[in-house]
Amino acid sequence: MIIRPKIRGFICITAHPEGCRQNVLEQINYVKAQGKIADSPKKVLVIGASTGYGLASRVVAAFGGGADTIGIYFERPEADGKPASAGFYNARALDEFSRAEGYISESINGDAFSDAVKGETIELIRKKFIKIDCVIYSLASPRRTDPLSGETYKSVLKPIGATFSGKTVNTDTEQVLEISIDSATEEEIEATRKVMGGEDWERWIDQLLAADVLAENVKTCAYSYIGPEVTWPIYAHGTIGRAKDHLEQSVKNIQNKLKNLQGDAVISVNKAVVTQASSAIPVVPLYNSVLFKIMKQKGLHEGCVEQMYRLFASHFGVDRDEKGRLRLDNLEMRDDVQREVKAIWDKILTENLRKLSDFEGYRQDFLRLFGFGVAGVDYGKDVKIQ
Ligand code: NAD
Repeated sequence: MIIRPKIRGFICITAHPEGCRQNVLEQINYVKAQGKIADSPKKVLVIGASTGYGLASRVVAAFGGGADTIGIYFERPEADGKPASAGFYNARALDEFSRAEGYISESINGDAFSDAVKGETIELIRKKFIKIDCVIYSLASPRRTDPLSGETYKSVLKPIGATFSGKTVNTDTEQVLEISIDSATEEEIEATRKVMGGEDWERWIDQLLAADVLAENVKTCAYSYIGPEVTWPIYAHGTIGRAKDHLEQSVKNIQNKLKNLQGDAVISVNKAVVTQASSAIPVVPLYNSVLFKIMKQKGLHEGCVEQMYRLFASHFGVDRDEKGRLRLDNLEMRDDVQREVKAIWDKILTENLRKLSDFEGYRQDFLRLFGFGVAGVDYGKDVKIQ
């Protein structure tokens, strides 16, 4: 079949296998061009490994650090003549490329929040890895079933305490609009914490420790975001920000648990990039379009793989802030960058969207997430789908 993009709001329901494979290859080639990272972890588990920051972490761990990797993700395979989700194709390609260069590369497609997948992962580690020395936690999910209570929680992207009104862009119609989002209820705040907070990260570490599959000096890292004031009501001060506070608070508990292994836990505050998760957050696609324009003009632009290369090359030590967090968002948050973003933000309208922002770059990045618009791919060629 010929696969074309079918966009529904902030998601594309089709994905192109060859385009996804090519995207992964480009990330690998970027990492190879940067050179090998000395003393990098050698047995790496990435939870949330099929797209965005998790995929890039796995690429860097393997091709920059020379690691054997396990990737956990939740993706739709091909079925009934319909293409798989992009993450499925990405992970398949990464396994293929990694194995071709002699690395162990194993993937588990299932619900990382479940104890069943945690157990399956432990079995796999025992069989093929013995112990792991790095755990990357990069899940972004709209829901989680708590394995203890069996209850399913749904996360929401809402402000807390007051209705939020602000600018956003409708990426289909290219209209800059004022939106208004009601503040979250206590129940919604708690549900978002249950999904995107630190509970599951800690549960992973507990179970890996209990199974004795973590090596001496093990490192674990989870990702967070802060961003500028225009996004605070909906991000840092909203339900997702509250969940990230909880994620950050889990670091202390995890550090204590890893003491006997001389291990470490850390949060990396990453830069805003285009991923499936970030495309779903109101305001963020417009902010990214403006940010990318400024960062590209200044030669500072980075995507997932550039950020993750910096993370691994710094041995998880770059620019720690007063709260002990790594600050890979240091270039995004530079005063001159944010001053220029703010000046554009105040002026941006539907009529000047393409002139004042890099909306075109944003759109291209969005399509590329699903394997479309990738150079060298023949989109007119028939693709075999199961
Ligand atoms: P993404 O949507 O690209 O990736 C999410 C990953 O989680 C995918 O691999 C998906 O398969 C996996 N996943 C989701 N539910 C799962 C489940 N139940 N079981 C197993 N796997 C599951 O997201 P992303 O933007 O790369 O986000 C990853 C982390 O980085 C998040 O913590 C996010 O908050 C953080 N972050 C993102 C940005 C950004 O701009 N995108 C910036 C800073 C920090």
